[in-house]
Amino acid sequence: MRGRRHLWITYLLLSACDVGYFSQSSPETRPFQEQPPIQDRSPTAPDRPLTDQQREVLRMAADVLSQIQLVSIKENIEYCGYIVLNPDNMLKIIGPEPGSTFGCRTPLVYKPDVILASYHTHGRFDSRTLTETPSSTDFQAVGVEHVDAFIGTPGGRLWRLDSLTLVATMVCGRADCLPRQTPTPRDLDRPVPRILTQQEVFEIERRVPDLKRR
Ligand SMILES: [Zn+2]
Repeated sequence: MRGRRHLWITYLLLSACDVGYFSQSSPETRPFQEQPPIQDRSPTAPDRPLTDQQREVLRMAADVLSQIQLVSIKENIEYCGYIVLNPDNMLKIIGPEPGSTFGCRTPLVYKPDVILASYHTHGRFDSRTLTETPSSTDFQAVGVEHVDAFIGTPGGRLWRLDSLTLVATMVCGRADCLPRQTPTPRDLDRPVPRILTQQEVFEIERRVPDLKRR
């Protein structure tokens, strides 16, 4: 995913989603409410607890990624977008926008909405890329945008890349997580670390010749 600087102008974005595959024709809006804590399903999740708002953002990211996973896998392109907070204290999904096989330009977000997180898919299994983990490009985008990123992989994994710590954590894995590619290529079931730092991702990528990044 390649982040794009958002444009701050004074009217609201009404709809950034018109790809025709989704049940909702406009960005989903739901009120933000204090909710009882849920357990992060990753047994190795960092100790730093998520705020109620971060947990709701995570739920929305999981929802929207679940909806676009199979389309992204079928077309082998990335889809991407944002989760924003509007002046009425409502969380809203912007996108998803279709990208390309190796990139996705995030939709514009308009002031006074505030971007809280980005999300994107990793398309279909592709031997040219490491689909099951966040890429160094993902870390770089988070470093520029300073908001968390959520990533869905063709193996059905959901990642959260924390913008404060620059640590990626697998929220859930192959079972009981996002829709996944079927039939499933064997490489998608190879175990991957559940926590990755930017430096670790750089080192992993350095060992892969002619790597394409998503
Ligand atoms: Zn990515």
